[in-house]
Amino acid sequence: MSAAPLVLFDVETSSGVVGRSYIFTYTPVVLVAAARLASDVSAALAGKSLAPVAINQALRRQFVLLGTTGLLDMVIAGIDMALGDASAKAAGLPLVALLGGEPRELQAYASFGMDGQDHAVLAAQGAAERHFQAIKIKIGYPTFAEDLAVIRAVRAALPTECALMVDYNQALSVTEAIRRCHALDDEGLAWIEEPVRCDDLAGHARVAEAIKTPVQLGENAWGPQGIQEMLQKRASDLAMPDLMKVGGVTGWQGAAAICEAQRVLISNHFYQETSAHLLSLSPVAHYLEYFGIADAVLRDPVVAVNGRVKPSGAPGCGIEWNEAAVERFQASGAA
Ligand SMILES: [Mg+2]
Repeated sequence: MSAAPLVLFDVETSSGVVGRSYIFTYTPVVLVAAARLASDVSAALAGKSLAPVAINQALRRQFVLLGTTGLLDMVIAGIDMALGDASAKAAGLPLVALLGGEPRELQAYASFGMDGQDHAVLAAQGAAERHFQAIKIKIGYPTFAEDLAVIRAVRAALPTECALMVDYNQALSVTEAIRRCHALDDEGLAWIEEPVRCDDLAGHARVAEAIKTPVQLGENAWGPQGIQEMLQKRASDLAMPDLMKVGGVTGWQGAAAICEAQRVLISNHFYQETSAHLLSLSPVAHYLEYFGIADAVLRDPVVAVNGRVKPSGAPGCGIEWNEAAVERFQASGAA
């Protein structure tokens, strides 16, 4: 991943508070369409009170015949996160405090891509030097022998107490996943993420049943109901909702309640600024994924200290733009 197409949201209230958020469109192909949709959907907010839950529900009702899964859910989540930021700013509180909690130090893991063994080892060494106590790498090489070699090389580069997670990014068939994940069972991995296609919950349930290592899903679950369904089908042992896909702050709270009720450990996927506030509220908080996808346009990016992250103590979620950077990236081709 060499670029991050982002749609930035600024929602301004009549009292002059500006709530901010962003969504990540994964591919530049849908960036302009998502920005246009965000702008069109947001027109309905004019004159409404600053009530994120009510607005979230009203927007969903507006699209009930079409359905919202996909771009509309992404845009509604972006609006919801910006409204959450605005509500907290209007109250003069960090989001976690607005929701009744206190900022907590969360254990973070440094998250890396898939660039071969040498890069994985360098990344692991860098994270260990920065005192991370957990890291995640991507695997899913052409052969299992390569997966194993990368895992063992990374493991050897880390202090023994450092947790290691791996992410297959949906690369395997169910039978191949059972074969490879079973063979990884004694490697001491903290979790194995998305070994098969994200929408194959029955397949993930077969993998989870066949291995000892926890299976981790959630970044592709749409709404709290998506998290509920994956847990109900025993497709995942853990949960890692993505704020954009789970429905913003409002959707996250529904998903977090489901995880709490089922005693399932919850981590985030992306959106570390707002996720840090929300994880601070959860008695089943697991890890914060430390991956600064928006750092290049943020005035105060989240900083991990000794591998731990505390949510911003400023009013809101801690998202303010580095305006000069935003201008530079806009000029470079985005809408
Ligand atoms: Mg993943």
